Amino acid sequence: MQDFSYQRALDVDAAVAAVGQPGTRFVGGGTNLLDLMKAGVEKPVRLVDISRLPLATIRETGDGGLAIGALARNGDVADHPLVRARYPLLSQALVAGASAQLRNMATVGGNLMQRTRCYYFVDPGFAMCNKRVPGSGCAALEGHNRIHAILGASDACVATNPSDMSVALAALDATVRVRGPRGERRIAIADFHRLPGGAPERDTTLEADELIVAVDLPPSRFARHAHYLKVRDRASYAFALVSVAAALDLDGDVVRDVRIALGGVAHNRGGRPTSSARSSDDRWRATCSTTRRRSSSVTRDRLRDNRFKVALAQRAVVRAIESARGQA
Ligand code: SF4
Repeated sequence: MQDFSYQRALDVDAAVAAVGQPGTRFVGGGTNLLDLMKAGVEKPVRLVDISRLPLATIRETGDGGLAIGALARNGDVADHPLVRARYPLLSQALVAGASAQLRNMATVGGNLMQRTRCYYFVDPGFAMCNKRVPGSGCAALEGHNRIHAILGASDACVATNPSDMSVALAALDATVRVRGPRGERRIAIADFHRLPGGAPERDTTLEADELIVAVDLPPSRFARHAHYLKVRDRASYAFALVSVAAALDLDGDVVRDVRIALGGVAHNRGGRPTSSARSSDDRWRATCSTTRRRSSSVTRDRLRDNRFKVALAQRAVVRAIESARGQA
């Protein structure tokens, strides 16, 4: 591991000022960054420890939404009474995302910033990885690409984003609040993670000198009918091959609104088809059929080993909707 210096930030402004220097990274829970540093993937020259900043609060907002501090631990968010009551989709996604030990260390901001688990990215023994070494090529294009993207990939990178939490946040229309030297701004979660394009080394739209301070959730109508479905290679903790966050606003058998976000298929979040005022079982089946057709129209990015994800995603969407509907 490369030598680095360490300092602890005492307030948010000091943290923002410190990260403006080249080669500097924030560290909170450290559950992803420290692993990558030990592997030689990440090589910061300076770490700014933000773990003691007062950004761990989870509070109700004036409009009935929720503000979750960036340093709130994933476990605390998953178990919080307001999250469980009003945003069970988020709670389910966090529990599906990691073991209790990891949830107790990992922060909300760190979860958003975690990096792809592409085999060729996490192992510097592979020379070709545009995300790790810009301009070096992409070993996954002709290599093992079973876990890779079926949507939004480019010739430069076909990696997926590994966060379960952000799939639920996308379905719930969350906003990421960030602070930089120019003040505070808000980024819709759907715009936070970048598709690779020609610059896969940039995972997000966050600027290098900005700090995530909170995630804001609007009031939700989806508390009673929501389901996070994660399909993975083993029953215990693993990253998603495909995941679906599905949330319904039902009035009897009328679907007033439906929100769907996909994980494991791209480097940002998938489509969010919306239907309204559907009633009766026949119309319900039509909603699921429409979902299948929409899913099958976006398959051109598939690679040699990951074609199975297309059918898997279609079926997972339908099952997640049906599971969400079935909840009382
Ligand atoms: Fe690197 Fe992206 Fe290619 Fe994986 S898919 S090897 S992360 S460039």
